Amino acid sequence: MEYKKLEAITDHIFLVQGKNNGRFPYSHSILILDEDIVLVDTGCGIEPLKKLRKEYDVSYVINSHTHPDHSAGNWMFKDTPIYVPEEGFETSGDLVALSRRFVNKELAQEWRKFVKETMNFKNCKPTNCYNDRTMFKFGKTTFKPIYTPGHTKDHYCFYEPREKLLFSFDYDLTSFPWYGHRESSIPEFRESAKKLKFLSPKIVVSSHRGVSAEDIDAEFDRFYKIFSERAERILSLLGNGKNIDQLVEYAPIYGKFSYAESILRYWESEMIKKHLKELETSGKIEKRGKVYMRKSF
Ligand SMILES: [Zn+2]
Repeated sequence: MEYKKLEAITDHIFLVQGKNNGRFPYSHSILILDEDIVLVDTGCGIEPLKKLRKEYDVSYVINSHTHPDHSAGNWMFKDTPIYVPEEGFETSGDLVALSRRFVNKELAQEWRKFVKETMNFKNCKPTNCYNDRTMFKFGKTTFKPIYTPGHTKDHYCFYEPREKLLFSFDYDLTSFPWYGHRESSIPEFRESAKKLKFLSPKIVVSSHRGVSAEDIDAEFDRFYKIFSERAERILSLLGNGKNIDQLVEYAPIYGKFSYAESILRYWESEMIKKHLKELETSGKIEKRGKVYMRKSF
């Protein structure tokens, strides 16, 4: 795999291009070259990380959250401190614990195999944790953690106040906001996205899309709108009533299950369930037994 050059965001902050253009099961990493050399997230792929390790004496590693596409390569820096969110400290770097957290019992083994094979994940316990009272100082550069649950319960973004940079990780301004775990939450995701937009950043750097510097307010609005578009799509399927399994067949969120099918089906069903709950609360649908039905007005 070729090693793409670092992309400068400022004099001290660089984007490390992830494999597969940073798309899942990879993500872009951030490298800070200041008084400290710090790597944020290690899901960019093993080859880029090997190169980085050769070229730079990394002082420590920070993870934005515990998803393996952001933390799979922590083991390559096991001689340095590894900082993770306090909400994820117990499960971080522990494949069995993560599998219990991120999928159901039946899929846990398959998920572990997928993560090991596609992301080269190896167990590696973190050494330190942080929260939203932490301030990371790397020299001239500082990162303020912003707690942004919804995607996972342990997701943080980082704000760099001097240049108004937002590192938004999986609030990634793509067309695919993701909230497929039991611990994920649509209301929290919306709140977190609002909080980020409210910062009025000049530049947003995300894990799966990279650098966005234009129309940021509109980008957030578009990202935000995807929730209501998905809800509408689900609602449109409920004219004659459907149960969850039937809804999953239509894949209103993923569209299709092109890899790790049973795991994606599970995440699809988790996301659909969250939308159904919202639709039920707002009185747009009702549940009869296992069947969800659109209310007619
Ligand atoms: Zn994630």
